[in-house]
Amino acid sequence: MNFQSADQFVDAIVEKLKAARRKTVEDASNRDMFYAVSAIVKERINSAWVETQTIYKQKKVRQIYYLSMEFLIGRLLESNLLNCGLLDICNEALTALGFQPKEVYAAEHDAGLGNGGLGRLAACFLDSMASLQFPGHGCGIRYRYGLFEQRIIQGNQIELPDYWLKEEYPWETRKDEEAVEVQFGGEVEMLTKIDGSLEFRYHNTDKVMAVPYDIAVVGYHNKTINTLRLWSAESPDFEQNISSQGGAKYYHELEHQHSIEQISGFLYPDDSVYEGKLLRLKQQYFLVAASLKSILSSFKKNYRLPLTQLQEKVVVQINDTHPSLAIPEFMRILMDEERFGWDDAWKMTQQVFAYTNHTTLSEALEKWPVEMMKQLLPRIYMIIHEMNERFCKNIWFDHPELRDELPGLAIIADNQIHMARMAVIGSFSVNGVARIHTDILKNQEMKHFYTLFPDRFRNKTNGITHRRWLLQVNPRLAGLVSDTIGKKWVKQPSKLISLLRYSKDASFLNKIDDVKKHNKQLLSSFIYTKTGIMTDPASIFDVQIKRLHEYKRQLLNIFHVIHLYNELKDNPAMNVVPRTFIFGAKAAPSYHLAKEIIKLINQTAFIINNDKTISEKLKVVFLENYNVSLAEHIIPAADISEQISTASKEASGTGNMKMMMNGAITLGTLDGANIEIKALVGEKNMFIFGLTAEEVLYYYQHGGYVARDIYEVDERVRRILDQLNDGAFGSQEMEFKDIYYNILSHNDPYFVLKDFDSYIEAHELVEQAYRDRNTWLSMSVTNIAYSGKFSSDRTIQEYASEIWRVRPIKGWKFLI
Ligand SMILES: *Cc1c(COP(=O)(O)O)cnc(C)c1O
Repeated sequence: MNFQSADQFVDAIVEKLKAARRKTVEDASNRDMFYAVSAIVKERINSAWVETQTIYKQKKVRQIYYLSMEFLIGRLLESNLLNCGLLDICNEALTALGFQPKEVYAAEHDAGLGNGGLGRLAACFLDSMASLQFPGHGCGIRYRYGLFEQRIIQGNQIELPDYWLKEEYPWETRKDEEAVEVQFGGEVEMLTKIDGSLEFRYHNTDKVMAVPYDIAVVGYHNKTINTLRLWSAESPDFEQNISSQGGAKYYHELEHQHSIEQISGFLYPDDSVYEGKLLRLKQQYFLVAASLKSILSSFKKNYRLPLTQLQEKVVVQINDTHPSLAIPEFMRILMDEERFGWDDAWKMTQQVFAYTNHTTLSEALEKWPVEMMKQLLPRIYMIIHEMNERFCKNIWFDHPELRDELPGLAIIADNQIHMARMAVIGSFSVNGVARIHTDILKNQEMKHFYTLFPDRFRNKTNGITHRRWLLQVNPRLAGLVSDTIGKKWVKQPSKLISLLRYSKDASFLNKIDDVKKHNKQLLSSFIYTKTGIMTDPASIFDVQIKRLHEYKRQLLNIFHVIHLYNELKDNPAMNVVPRTFIFGAKAAPSYHLAKEIIKLINQTAFIINNDKTISEKLKVVFLENYNVSLAEHIIPAADISEQISTASKEASGTGNMKMMMNGAITLGTLDGANIEIKALVGEKNMFIFGLTAEEVLYYYQHGGYVARDIYEVDERVRRILDQLNDGAFGSQEMEFKDIYYNILSHNDPYFVLKDFDSYIEAHELVEQAYRDRNTWLSMSVTNIAYSGKFSSDRTIQEYASEIWRVRPIKGWKFLI
């Protein structure tokens, strides 16, 4: 059904409400409306989905599979409407029916199947692949519980389960007929056949059924629909087993079923901290085994080509090492099931897989104990072992200069399996996610691998979909941009650069100012509704929203806030530009120090917001449960984007890109993609401070930094640290002693004190710049203008031409 007008859409909604919800408009809730509109959109999507699949099959196109343990897709109704070209009509129709469109869209539960940046990147990539008409699909896990929901109670983070499937999820389609079996454990028997070849048989394995749930990924105005396939773990022939067994066996069977379902039970709530747990390893293997089985079977069924051509038609991108077991699993299938020899299988494997590295933080580099791998995946372990033997022999004989380095290169060392090393060795491409990050990989972390395989390494700076992060979340800014430079930027975001011509145009700057003011008013009332805190839209909205981690240095931010507060208390007449500091951050539930920092932010906020003497000048807001939807509320209203990680630690960051695109100015260190932002806008259009990555790495290697020296010399710092202990921001003394000792006894591992002075100075420059309206607005416009480079469309085009070697299927009349 094509909708020409809002009237037609109104009719469709009224019908759907009756048919699917048994409701009239009068007794429909926002949620009923959400389901009705979703059903209408889903029907539209389904027919285009079938068409896209048919074309892929007919043309036997080369397909991309993006394997990821996380897809942080957020809500889908509004972005699906936008991409289908129905958003305006739907907004009009809902309004005509007496509903607030935003409230209807907010009835959708966020799909929080990711921790943060890595999972959100996967979601942006899916959007860009479909919008650019690349045949690219996601493979992930349908966790029954997504990332925990955060509540703040008396300053403390409390975690609640996120049961996002409680009410029906309208975007998924269960595909029973495409379920596959995955095997764990058991024993491996090796037989030598008459012809001398080896055969491997598995005995006593635990069998798990992987059932796919497919979600449509809708391209922007192009009728291309790709697939995000999420796997759910179920017990095979559970009903059969249960009905044929009585008594105690019945309960045993139920327990067994429960343990199987645990595999897709919940998302591990760790970000940047590697968590080595048996269940997590099961999840990883479950994802790769099910995905590869389904990729191979659709290749065989749809393409009818010999398996030896698979690498021409399939490329698999591995999102960090979490899905890197795909490499030995693919070897296993080729050898044990398809009867390839090692060499042929290895050659193929190395043509299929490409690996993205996301971090150089050593605590985040995945390693699994040999014993655990052997027990859970005996055949996979044998293959990893053989990969390692062959690799080590090759180094020993062909690269004698690297013999001493073997312990740092081998896949298996110290009884541990080093997943990043395996991923590098088993794939044809290794990429970092921003220039500096790739340079650190090539020249430090993986320098020997880089000498061994120089052609394998490349950079792919991350990106974000400008459709969600500008068109959808900031319609006023998007509209103003289109009115000013035309609409071409929507399909070609690099065209945003045309805005530069208006960066000194007074009337345009006024309009930019109006848009930001409006967005700040909206956020201000949102904050009031959520927290009861009154904020002034005329104040500087200074925003830090991201996972809570020591290296991201929310601590440095709150130290600055405390410093400002101290100054205002000392000198109440001080003339300052009013500031509103906005935080959003979840800490991993077991990350004690991170939770203490959350508490410090909240307690500081409580003291400051309730201090009548300064209430006009300073406000601190911690918005609980930071997720995609909350990001969508905050980002359009940000003036300052805090990107203050310890240099060298943040691989890329993508929050920095989202805020830049919405006209916020970056206050940051020379880290991750901040460096590339600076290369574009220049240092006049952002606020840079702090140690460089080189300096940080120098201190780590050679020492020479003593945090206590700064504490002794800098009164401002001493006062803040002492306040942590004397109860100024707590309900008791020593409440924040772990933060205190981390800095003074553990020598401030993330250089908070070292960068403090430079950070304060940068904030003073922020204030000066903000006082000069036109300068500020012109900086803001310059940032928007250059942000096109950070559209994930650019990133995906680079992956497509330089790694995947696929072309868009544009121009096929069927799809246009
Ligand atoms: C973009 C995004 C992130 C990543 O933010 P960084 O600042 O790059 O760490 C994390 N969580 C959510 C919900 C996001 O939308």
